[in-house]
Amino acid sequence: MNGGCFCGFVRYEVGGVPTEKTTCHCSICRRTTGAPHVTWFTVRRDAFSVTAGTPATFRSSDHAVRSFCPRCGTQLSFASSRFPDEIDVTVCSLDDPGAVPPTDHTFAASRMSWDLICDGLRAYPERRPR
Ligand SMILES: [Zn+2]
Ligand SMILES: [Zn+2]
Repeated sequence: MNGGCFCGFVRYEVGGVPTEKTTCHCSICRRTTGAPHVTWFTVRRDAFSVTAGTPATFRSSDHAVRSFCPRCGTQLSFASSRFPDEIDVTVCSLDDPGAVPPTDHTFAASRMSWDLICDGLRAYPERRPR
């Protein structure tokens, strides 16, 4: 699969089969995107490669680094030192986000009261159990 940021400066390629596909309602996803939730998919870290441009990064918590386009701000990836072999990628930065629908919700306990979960998918109050 291929994806990239809104302006086209950063492009990436991702392979393999996603191991998780979740919509995250945590406050960090909210505050770093300005959106009520963010849908992510997880792949092996070596299956993700940037093919054009250079993303910028910032540390969003003691264990995690997020990348984004330095020109347009699109958030692209999340990498945690707790899961060094994995990387999470934003579903909606894919060229075809419809190809990776979420299977559950995480950090649902943190969701905005008006951000209703009514898709029938399982909602984990916090992190999805592994
Ligand atoms: Zn961009
Ligand atoms: Zn989150």
